[in-house]
Amino acid sequence: MSSDSKLMARDYHKAMAPFFGSDEIGSWVNGAMMPGRGDMFDLIDPATGKAFLALKDAGADVVDAAMKAASAGQKVWWGMTAAERGRILWRIGQQVRDHLDQLALLETVSAGKPIRDTKVEVLKVAEMFEYYAGWADKLHGDVIPVPTSHLNYTRPEPYGVVTQITPWNAPIFTAGWQLAPALCTGNAAVLKPSEMTPLTSLALGVLSKKAGLPDGVITVLTGLGTTTGVAATTHDVTRKVVFVGSPRTGAIIAAQAAQNIVPCVLELGGKSANIVFGDADLKRAVLGAQAAIFSGAGQSCVAGSRLLVQRNVVDRFLDMLVDGANRIPVGDPMDSATQIGPINNDAQYQTVRRLVAAGQKEGAELLAGGIRPEGYDEGYFLRPTVLGNVRNDMAIAREEIFGPVVSVIPFDDEAEAVAIANDSKFGLAGAVWTQSVDRAHRVAANVRAGTFWINSYKTINVMSPFGGFGASGYGRSSGKEGLMEYMQPKSVWTETAANPPAAFGYAPE
Ligand code: NAD
Repeated sequence: MSSDSKLMARDYHKAMAPFFGSDEIGSWVNGAMMPGRGDMFDLIDPATGKAFLALKDAGADVVDAAMKAASAGQKVWWGMTAAERGRILWRIGQQVRDHLDQLALLETVSAGKPIRDTKVEVLKVAEMFEYYAGWADKLHGDVIPVPTSHLNYTRPEPYGVVTQITPWNAPIFTAGWQLAPALCTGNAAVLKPSEMTPLTSLALGVLSKKAGLPDGVITVLTGLGTTTGVAATTHDVTRKVVFVGSPRTGAIIAAQAAQNIVPCVLELGGKSANIVFGDADLKRAVLGAQAAIFSGAGQSCVAGSRLLVQRNVVDRFLDMLVDGANRIPVGDPMDSATQIGPINNDAQYQTVRRLVAAGQKEGAELLAGGIRPEGYDEGYFLRPTVLGNVRNDMAIAREEIFGPVVSVIPFDDEAEAVAIANDSKFGLAGAVWTQSVDRAHRVAANVRAGTFWINSYKTINVMSPFGGFGASGYGRSSGKEGLMEYMQPKSVWTETAANPPAAFGYAPE
């Protein structure tokens, strides 16, 4: 950090100490840290662009040891009563609550997310464990009125060991989101977070032990996708893969899992349409549009990256949007006033900047941003960027930019707005702003997306299902639909007749 840097001083070791003490950070295997055996790689602070910790890739041998421990841990876990499992899940939630400030700080320091966001996200992780704690003893099968003399019932059973692969944009949120339902249903979870942001997922492993979770039920693998991730998803102990990340990697992982006939849930990217009609409450819509694309520095799968505005209000709307964008505080994620922190990593930063330049080349007009905030010459900072005069066939309207960049596309009427919204390979989310009730529900029905908001944006909750249509993936997370992904029904047939009719063969004389 240069002496004239605007960044507050950072003490990385102090942020890690509450969870890891002086232990060497490796993978969380069988209730303890296991050192990696592969190559070294660096963790980079996105605010400075500098390495602050070197870690070792876990590698195939650690994955193998982890899978054996997970398999043993799952048998202990599934052998406990459902109520006991629920109580432990609840206690994990309490551990997360008790460590809210420390977890938020660790996430901010290591992933570059503003502290005001990480405090909210950590709290949501506590809620995820609490929500699924309540489900643990309420999962049961059906008795089916089959037309024979059998008693036929179903038992929802876990897959066994589930491998989960997560990205870097909301590390602890995504970890909690997938760990809690996997455990609730009696599975052991082997989580491989992004190699760029593994620390808060590891901290969840540590806290789960404090909450009384048996060893092996949560594993956290520290390592690269192409080595550790491949070893985990193709290991023969893995019975299901849940992947959150880019469509490109999702397709590779689904193919890897298919080799062992292992099903997947894929939670992938998006290019969501946020549609503003001329009759909307424009002040609220402007605020909603900013939150939709700029919160989290646009590194959100549901980001409202295509902003469709009715032509009769587009100039007025753009004036308000640009004014808002120019005032949003961008900078040090440790500062509680900061609303937009850095982009997570250099590769992503370069992608965002390349796409903004490509958009301008194709004729889009740069109305705000496109530059670093003043005083931030290092790290991966970008001011919120508004591109006007965008057509839906431009690269900036088709590719997921995953940065604080909004493409504004004018439209004339409802049919055109819906057609533009659906002219995308993605189908993750969308929204409509209007005061017309019938139009709001028509548009909600006609836009192809897994989540849709009316006069709102970005509210998601563990109680409600979440997932994509089209290239945004398949399967669902959250809610009871998310639980179903982690269970498989077994059908049990019991003969109840005193003298069942013999339909086949000969009875012994
Ligand atoms: P990514 O696809 O590059 O990587 C995701 C994870 O996959 C990482 O942990 C990586 O190590 C691992 N990986 C890579 N190759 C692998 C392989 N062959 N086998 C096993 N694991 C492998 O994604 P990213 O750049 O980290 O994250 C950004 C993407 O995530 C965006 O597209 C975003 O939209 C998406 N995302 C989706 C959701 C959702 O719920 N739909 C939520 C958050 C992020």
